[in-house]
Amino acid sequence: MTPRRKIVPVFVPHLGCPNDCVFCNQRTISGSLRPAGAEDVVRALEEARGKTASAELAFYGGSFTNLPEETQRALLAAAQPFRASGFVTSLRVSTRPDAVTAQKLRLLRAYGVETVELGAQSMDDRVLRLSGRGHTAADTVAAAGLVKAAGMQLVLQMMTGLPGADRETDLRSAEAVAALEPTGVRIYPTVILRGTPLERLWRAGKYRAHTVSDAVGTCAPIAGLFLRAGIPILRLGLNPTEALSGGKAVGGAYHPALGELVYARLYLELARRKLRSMPKLPPRIELLVAENRVSQMTGRKRGNLLALRWEFGLEEISVSGGPFPPETVEIREIL
Ligand code: SF4
Repeated sequence: MTPRRKIVPVFVPHLGCPNDCVFCNQRTISGSLRPAGAEDVVRALEEARGKTASAELAFYGGSFTNLPEETQRALLAAAQPFRASGFVTSLRVSTRPDAVTAQKLRLLRAYGVETVELGAQSMDDRVLRLSGRGHTAADTVAAAGLVKAAGMQLVLQMMTGLPGADRETDLRSAEAVAALEPTGVRIYPTVILRGTPLERLWRAGKYRAHTVSDAVGTCAPIAGLFLRAGIPILRLGLNPTEALSGGKAVGGAYHPALGELVYARLYLELARRKLRSMPKLPPRIELLVAENRVSQMTGRKRGNLLALRWEFGLEEISVSGGPFPPETVEIREIL
């Protein structure tokens, strides 16, 4: 079997970051971090070469375009022999919206970067201010325009449950993000990390944690919105790690299977809406969804089916997959 292409991540901690995002723990952990260098890029790609036929190199973690230009050049240059050999097929970087200029994008393009991920986080200026982001929604709109004008792919990251946010502001942020027509989005419900300003606000009673239940309730309609807009959700929730599970996440929306919980809620709501819209409900029904959505429609421990059966007084309910659009639930009577 041919090995699949994979993403090779290189974490670029931005040790000198002048910003004060309340949720960020880079300052606290900076003693245990060191700047990423060309040798890290080479090592990561050498390791990946034995395991996969081709790879996309991704610089994550900091604000890549805020790094000194010589550091950016050194990191990108280290990948060029792997690009020339055909192993690295594309490169991506993540950065802040206010760290994007046409000139900075030209540098990235010159080294073959095709995708720029922008940490929009929210499109509400009050939420951005209360979260110490140091940029505005207008910065994100402008940066998104520059990325597209440079002919690059645009991925937008947003967070839910930040200080000052509620379900309404988060939904409006998602609409504003979708209006920028990114090629993909990542959604990160706020997690309270140990040692962050957010932890202090939370412990002082000045911030209410965005619980897993809050995140599921907020992100389900947001996921539906992106599905309807045809915008792929590349990630929902922080990647589970031993450190997060082992105590680094002290509160907030950390759950190793958060994405599954959100999608299960989304499909439960879609099915509810569909069933409520039917003038006459047959007693035995089959829910029809896209092939890869069957488990999400079913829910954990068949929770969605049990809930629907009880709510709608059904005698029988089951799920089947088929060639259906991802954002729809169809109903078929079981005869
Ligand atoms: S999240 Fe904010 S504070 Fe942390 S590195 Fe990024 S810009 Fe700096």
